[in-house]
Amino acid sequence: MKIRLASDLQSDSIVDGEGIRTVIWTQGCSHNCLGCHNPGTHDFKGGFEVDTEDIINELDKLEGQQGITFSGGDPLFQVEACIEIAKHAKDSGLDVWCYTGFKYEDLIRTTKNLEFLRYVDVLVDGKFLWEEKSMNLDFRGSRNQRIIDVPSSIESGQVVLISKYVGERTVNVRSVKPRHVYI
Ligand code: SF4
Repeated sequence: MKIRLASDLQSDSIVDGEGIRTVIWTQGCSHNCLGCHNPGTHDFKGGFEVDTEDIINELDKLEGQQGITFSGGDPLFQVEACIEIAKHAKDSGLDVWCYTGFKYEDLIRTTKNLEFLRYVDVLVDGKFLWEEKSMNLDFRGSRNQRIIDVPSSIESGQVVLISKYVGERTVNVRSVKPRHVYI
């Protein structure tokens, strides 16, 4: 099966989910979030096509990775190929994160998406919203985006957030030197 990617696999990432991860940058997205970091990944005819089998072979050669992360672009536009890769990752003992501009509640209405989510440990969902942007969030760019424990959500029938990632990191004000003193 073919999958369209925006770039080669990126191993050893520490910013696309917990631990050391390999990122699969999918090509194609129509969410058009204002301020998107990766506008070059939007064109559904951009990037390049590869066989999922080649990605799987490449993953098998990597060492020291905790898991894989689907990012993009929006991986859910190529859900069948993502199922194949995610299934292999899980069978190999890797955990699976996925970023999407869709909301979890909308994804689970479709059988194929639900099949994919059964191989996903963590879903970071929702569009990037410029007005909700914050630099104090773990693994996401805007406050509306949620870091979802997918197995628990499927089991309980409601969205279960990973509690340690709810809210923003607090800044220790004593350690921050004021840049200006107003008198
Ligand atoms: S979903 Fe992601 S890739 Fe797509 S426009 Fe929004 S931020 Fe960009």
